[in-house]
Amino acid sequence: MSKKTLIIGAGGVGNVVAFKCAMNSETFGEITLASRTLSKCEAIAANIKSKIGIQINTAAVDADSVSELTSLIQKTAADIVINVALPYQDLSIMDACTQTGVDYLDTANYEHPDTAKFEYKEQWARDEAFKEAGIMGLLGSGFDPGATNVFCAYAQKHYFDEIHTIDILDCNAGDHGYPFATNFNPEINLREVSAKGRYWQKNDNGQGEWIETEPMEIMQVWDYPEVGPKDSYLLYHEEMESLVKHIKGLKRIRFFMTFGQSYLTHMKCLENVGMLGIKEVEHKGMKIVPMEFLATLLPDPASLGPRTKGLTNIGIFAKGLKDGKERSIYIYQVANHEECYAEVLSQGVSYTTGVPAMIGAKLMLEGKWSGQGVFNIEQLDPDPFMEELNKQGLPWKVMELGADETRVIG
Ligand code: NDP
Repeated sequence: MSKKTLIIGAGGVGNVVAFKCAMNSETFGEITLASRTLSKCEAIAANIKSKIGIQINTAAVDADSVSELTSLIQKTAADIVINVALPYQDLSIMDACTQTGVDYLDTANYEHPDTAKFEYKEQWARDEAFKEAGIMGLLGSGFDPGATNVFCAYAQKHYFDEIHTIDILDCNAGDHGYPFATNFNPEINLREVSAKGRYWQKNDNGQGEWIETEPMEIMQVWDYPEVGPKDSYLLYHEEMESLVKHIKGLKRIRFFMTFGQSYLTHMKCLENVGMLGIKEVEHKGMKIVPMEFLATLLPDPASLGPRTKGLTNIGIFAKGLKDGKERSIYIYQVANHEECYAEVLSQGVSYTTGVPAMIGAKLMLEGKWSGQGVFNIEQLDPDPFMEELNKQGLPWKVMELGADETRVIG
């Protein structure tokens, strides 16, 4: 019987997911794209129709309301809900899935609008409810988290007996021509980047501990294949929380992201004047949240697509042991912003997030990934996902390095 798919969120990532599901409509069947603003869904549906000739349905929904969500899920008779709204909606959408008995997938961990915590606690707490409902929840099926976690699982399965250290490296060498803009939702992006850094390592007693750093305190220059050397700053990133649980023998894991000087100078200045605040302030008798106001002023990430040129290179640098010998590898994917836009009318950051979201959902609908409860993506068999990345527009490579070699050049 033909499947039915409900996608929630019609932003940059939602556009890519809708396009890619439509391109794989033999798996996704009847597709509905729902979001807060119906006109955004309709615009995406019209683009899909004119570019690839597939008709998808659209709907308006407030994804903060569990009752609105359950009615929509029942009305569409969805077999899976792909959540690419904002992290604030994760819990309400998960709860609507347990109430209706429908599988769930997202790309970012839950965040409360007033406090940025970047943790899975509240989503993992729903594991029992998912088991009771007999459904599967797949967390973090974007690129990072997402493909990077799968790269770690793939390295663990095929390249190592034990992985000792992992550096996740996220390079966006694209240029959109604006002095300052964010490649995905500005609130989520700026919260992540302005927060303190954190990495995990085992201490001398073999206990894992999180080491906190000041924002942007640790920088290394990493030589990204096909892109070249880029300043890469240590940040906290949510996938580390699940990877420390699931990768055998791990002694340290860190996450680095590239930033240009212009981006950092703008961000520091905005932070210094209070524009990154997430608490309400009073302005001429009105309450405003500075970060939300800033997001209104900044270019819509979806509008960056036609302007962005250059490459992304995201990968994992893993070191460990295989057959008693030291080994180092870099598994990575390079995407080209202009090629992404030509295919689905979105720049590379939305593309590299939306394609893995579609792939996770495809594997669930096809029964290649199954289970009851809430899973992080590295808990599933990496092989079918890696195969799909190659087929669906995100081909990857493995670079074998000498045991002591790195690509850090400064
Ligand atoms: P956008 O801001 O472009 O889009 C978010 C969409 O969600 C908008 O269409 C918005 O509606 C909709 N939305 C927001 N609130 C609600 C609500 N209450 N009810 C219904 N719809 C709502 O974000 P992106 O597309 O860039 O990002 C989508 C998700 O992907 C985010 O969770 C982000 O954190 C995640 N992400 C994950 C990455 C990864 O690699 N794992 C990388 C990049 C992003 P409206 O248009 O009306 O505002």
